[in-house]
Order: sequence, then C-alpha cells, then structure tokens
Amino acid sequence: EESPGGPSQKKVVAVVGGGLVGALNACFFAKRGFDVELFETREDIRQAKIVRGRSINLALSHRGRQALKHVGMEEKIVSQGIPMHARMIHSLNGKQSPIPYGKKGQYILSVDRANLNKELLTAAETYPNTKLNFDRKLQDWSAETGLMTFVRSDGSEEQVEADLIVGCDGAFSAIRKQFLRRSRFNYSQTYIPHGYMELTMPPINGEFAMKPNYLHIWPRNTFMMIALPNLDKTFTCTLFMPFEEFEKITTGDEVIEFFQKYFPDAIPLIGVDALKRDYFRLPAQAMVSVKCSPYHIGSKCVLMGDAAHAVVPFYGQGMNAGFEDCIVFDEIMEQFNEDFTQYELQTMRAHVNSKWFLFRKHIDNLLHFLMPKTIIPLYTMVTFTRTRYHEAVARWHWQDRVINRGLLFSATGALLGGSFLLIKNPPDINKLLVPAEKMWSRLVALRTS
Ligand code: FAD
Repeated sequence: EESPGGPSQKKVVAVVGGGLVGALNACFFAKRGFDVELFETREDIRQAKIVRGRSINLALSHRGRQALKHVGMEEKIVSQGIPMHARMIHSLNGKQSPIPYGKKGQYILSVDRANLNKELLTAAETYPNTKLNFDRKLQDWSAETGLMTFVRSDGSEEQVEADLIVGCDGAFSAIRKQFLRRSRFNYSQTYIPHGYMELTMPPINGEFAMKPNYLHIWPRNTFMMIALPNLDKTFTCTLFMPFEEFEKITTGDEVIEFFQKYFPDAIPLIGVDALKRDYFRLPAQAMVSVKCSPYHIGSKCVLMGDAAHAVVPFYGQGMNAGFEDCIVFDEIMEQFNEDFTQYELQTMRAHVNSKWFLFRKHIDNLLHFLMPKTIIPLYTMVTFTRTRYHEAVARWHWQDRVINRGLLFSATGALLGGSFLLIKNPPDINKLLVPAEKMWSRLVALRTS
C-alpha cells in the first residue's frame, strides 16, 4: 500500500496515547524503521508540575523487563527500581511474615510510574524518525482512510493520516470507539465493587518506615491494603475496599477508628494527622477490566495495552502485559490472539491469608524444587516467565488437579497405613494413660493454685 507521504516515503505509524505502553511502542516501531508520530492528550509530563496517573508506583516483572530489554531500556529502569523479593503479610496483631515470590534470587521491582513514563518518552525521542505530539486528544478517526482528528486545549482541530494506527490510549480508549461500531467485535467492560485510595507512609529518621525489599500486604478478607517502596524512602500504601465501605467513613476520627480496627500497626507509620487529612484528599478510584476481540481492524489499526485488555491490578500484570504486547507485535506482526484471563482480587486479599493457601504454596514450591519443569507455581509462570497467560492458567488447573489428587492419595494412604499399624500393633493403653493422668493433675493444680 502507498503510504500517505507518497510511494518513496517510509510507512507512517501513529501511536495514539503516550502513557506507558504508547511510549514504549513508539520505541519499538522507531527501531523497526517506521516513521513514528505519537499523539498524547496530556501536556508533556516531563515539563508538567503535577503528573496525573493511575497509581504512583507499579510492580515490574519479567514480561515488562523483556520488552524494555528489547529497546535497550532494561538496565536503566531496573537500576531505578526497588527489588521486592517477597510479600510481607501483616497480621492484625502486627506480626509480619514473609512469603517469597519465587525461588531465591527471583524478585519483582517497585518502579515509579511517572519516572518510567518520562524515561520512555525520552527514549522514543532519541530516534530521529519519531515525533512526539502533546496536547493532542484523539476525537475520531476513519477505519477506511486512517484519517484521525485531534483536538487541542485551545479548541483547534488537526487532521493526521497514517498507514497504521496503534491505539494505546488506555482503558477508556477513544480509538476503540470505532471498533464498537463494527460487526462481530466483542466487547465487555466490568467494574469491580472495590475502589482504591493511595496514602503515603513517610520515612522515619530518614529511613524506610518498614523493610523496603518487600511488597507489604495487610489482607483483611473483603478488603486489604498493600504498600510498595519508593526511592525517596516513602511507601505508597493502596487501600482496596468496596466503595460502600469507603463511603461509610466520613470524618477523620472514623478513619482512625477504622485503621485502629484493621491496620493498627500502620497508624503510627502513616501518622494520625496525615491519615485524617489524606483519606479525604481524593475520592476512591474505580477499577475496570476490559475484554475485547479482535484487537485489530485489518491492517489499519491495532489496540494494545489497557485499550485492548485492562485488568484489575491485583496480579501486577496490566503494564507488564501491555509491554509484552509490544514484543508480541514485534515478533509476530499480526497475531494478536492473546487470551487475557482475569485474575481476581480474591487471590490476594483472602488466599494469602488462608492456611490452605500457605500450605499449598509450600507444597507447590517443594514440588517445583523437585520437578522444576513439571510443576511451576502459577505466580512464577505469570511473573517470571513469558508463558502465554491462557497456557499458564490451563497448566495451573492441570497441576492443581494433580497435586490435590496426590495430597488426597497421600492423606488416605497415611490414614490407612496408620490404622493398619494400630490394628497390627495396638499401643499399650497404660502408656497413653500415664501422660494423660499427669497432664490432668497439672491442669487441676493450675486451676486450684
Ligand atoms: P495508560 O497508562 O492509561 O495510558 C494511556 C495514555 O493515553 C494516557 O497517557 C492518556 O493521557 C492517553 N490518552 C487517553 N485518551 C486519549 C486520547 N483520546 N487521545 C490521545 N491520548 C489519549 N500494572 C502492572 O504491571 N503492575 C502493577 O503493579 C500495577 N499496579 C496498578 C495499580 C493500580 C491502582 C492501577 C489502577 C493499575 C495498575 N497497573 C499495574 C496497571 C497499569 O497501570 C496499566 O496496565 C498501564 O498503565 C496501562 O498502560 P497504557 O499505556 O495501556 O494505558
């Protein structure tokens, strides 16, 4: 096809959205030699005083790192991140227990969203074939011609044509609107009943208020709080809770009462005054998941990142999956049939709290150690490999069945074996009675003393 710039010109790729995925994608297309034009509705965040974003920091893992590596950015971003080797579970009584993420040496990284976005924009700009256009909000575009209409903050309009349009404009994508008008396009959007609110835990005497190399979690069944470390020695705490619970709290004293009940150890670390103030600074934010298919309109337009598959944040995969899209597109240009499976809040808020979860985690880790190629924990597949998401889930179901059957089989074996031994060699009842008698007399002594 002839490119808009004429037959001798290179193909023009328009990346719409200069967030995390759009900025990285601009690097990928520029590296492949396309003429890249990036359009972002916000002003240049590298010059802005306040940067609006969806969360202050994010967990970067293997898929995201692989994509960054592809454009020579991995080392730089990793050096600015804080490794988190384990989850640190905070019980109600203040007890802290670590649960490692994977094997020794495996970790995820806490990275600053705004900084990552700025670094990626700067990296994109270093390619001479890339142009960044800020203050350009996509209003509409034509699937037939690829003609896009952008509006600027002064109200002026601009029309731009491209050979390929890459929609990286987030969960509420304007590019996706054209898809919705087409036949056989499947789309669903689901809000979970939970909202999130970010609170800051300042340093104490210039040091982190808690151990920094962990993702701290306060699981409390229907809601929870997590905290990720930042380079300035603060922690960003994110409280996830049903909206109706957020709304029940209307005064500063109620905030403290609530924290006293559920997160008492966090009160002195965040600070009473800060808690009373910051809880009301911004309303709780909604979380949406988006599924759609197909991800492209012919060879004219493709959706990537949250525009294609926004997920709830509990598995720390949204950005990582979006970054992986860039590699997948690069590797197999037109195959975008990734199956993104929803991961539920439940995994984190309830399972990490349950004894069965911990028991199974130990069993899974032990089996992974003994049979590293056969049994791989789900979290390891999702976070530390590039196994396709749907394959990871299918494999996990299979492993789960095998391990549960194995456990049932072992338990039954132990029970039958134990009974057999008991029948064959009945214990001397007197030997059992003596300690029991002793115990009883001790109890009586205690009760009466
Ligand atoms: P966005 O980051 O939403 O960027 C879209 C960009 O497009 C924005 O810059 C926007 O201004 C621009 N735009 C929008 N409309 C237009 C338009 N009409 N014209 C031009 N530009 C437009 N993911 C992880 O991997 N790890 C985590 O730990 C993690 N934690 C999270 C915590 C929370 C609380 C939330 C809400 C999300 C978290 N995520 C995490 C998910 C992650 O934030 C997203 O998956 C990621 O931001 C998606 O990047 P994106 O570039 O596709 O979309």
